[in-house]
Amino acid sequence: MSSALPSYDEAAAQVAAYVGQLVHMRPVVERVDLGRALGRVLARPLHADRDQPPFARSTRDGFACRAAEASAHMPLTIAGTTRAGEPPAGELPAGAAREIMTGAPVPPGVDAVVMLEHVEMSNGQIRLDPKRTIAVGENIVSQGAQARKGDELLPVGTVITPAQVALAAACGHSALEVFARPRVAILSTGDEIVTIKSTPAPGQIRNSNGPMLAALVVAMGGEPWVLPNAPDNPQALDTALAQATEADLLVVTGGVSAGKFDLVEPALARVGAHFHFTGVRIQPGKPLVFGEIPRHRDAAVTAAGRSPIAPHALPFFGLPGNPVSSAVTFLLFAAPVLASLAGSVESAPRFALAQLAQGPQRHLKSDLTRFLPARCTFGTAGEMPEVALVSWQGSGDLAAMARSNCFLVLPEQSHPVPGAVVRILLI
Ligand code: AMP
Ligand code: MG
Repeated sequence: MSSALPSYDEAAAQVAAYVGQLVHMRPVVERVDLGRALGRVLARPLHADRDQPPFARSTRDGFACRAAEASAHMPLTIAGTTRAGEPPAGELPAGAAREIMTGAPVPPGVDAVVMLEHVEMSNGQIRLDPKRTIAVGENIVSQGAQARKGDELLPVGTVITPAQVALAAACGHSALEVFARPRVAILSTGDEIVTIKSTPAPGQIRNSNGPMLAALVVAMGGEPWVLPNAPDNPQALDTALAQATEADLLVVTGGVSAGKFDLVEPALARVGAHFHFTGVRIQPGKPLVFGEIPRHRDAAVTAAGRSPIAPHALPFFGLPGNPVSSAVTFLLFAAPVLASLAGSVESAPRFALAQLAQGPQRHLKSDLTRFLPARCTFGTAGEMPEVALVSWQGSGDLAAMARSNCFLVLPEQSHPVPGAVVRILLI
């Protein structure tokens, strides 16, 4: 049966093909203060407003000089001081050196800065340490070495991290134009699910997927729109789905397996869903569904006060309800779509390599690609990261997942031994 389902790679390729179409759909642009821009996606390229650095500057505390004179070990007369923040001094006279601080502009005629620690000083003169020479350009960054005025420094689609915040600040941007966050409808389904604040009756459990998915959506640059939980009945699902059409992306959890009360797929079919796949050869997460629901009116204005990002059809994922299944399938498949809807040029899941630690071998060969909760230790001494499985009781084991910081990826039919280099999915 399961061989009819796409493999992980095939399903990922289908999602990537869908993401490829989204590249031309640009979300609405808004302006945010730089202090609130972390994690947002740049909607306009960032240009250098002046040369970077804007003037030739010293990278050391020392003496600005001519390399040839210093390397000949001539005594050089100290001709004044330039502190950081002062304008550059006039042309350096022959046979002279100018005391200079880190970040200060070097005067014309200077082609090197000797470090304070490398000179002997006496009677207002310096001389380079006899054991040393200095090359032209040493300890100076020339004007425009990093960028020229007008150069594009960051393209559209860049996710803003602290480094981009710094660059924007250096270029004088106290606010940035970023794409509007995609609105992600989150629908938790199941007769047994109750809200956090209610006291679960026997047989009931609190909805943990809703808050987890909302957190994942925030972490991936989206705006969660948590719908009321829907019980396992067709009418409730129809009502919930009708509401969700205003979202940019719909994520449903629970109700996609083959059980008698797994009613999500038929409900999606009733609203005209086109399914890209209904199941993937992965564990956990095999019942995952991915598709699109046509929108009735193209580019209608939604509750968010703007057109949906993908105007013709609402992309959706139906995630299996087990918490670990929901997390894995979101990271593998929904997160790339969300990143693309957010306008990011980087949308693929983040895989890395690590060495499998010693430990019990519980993973027999399987015809499914498996994603097992694991803990990766990132070395401190340049060694390869090491990954160890977290003991778990299957895909409902939320406590095990909370002890993990990645998933160990076991491709179909693989059986790695301790010490092997394996793939991990970073969370
Ligand atoms: P389902 O995918 O609906 O067959 O559910 C599979 C398992 O996940 C069942 O044990 C459910 O009780 C559990 N589950 C479903 N939805 C949630 C949820 N929102 N939060 C926590 N557990 C859930
Ligand atoms: Mg269910």
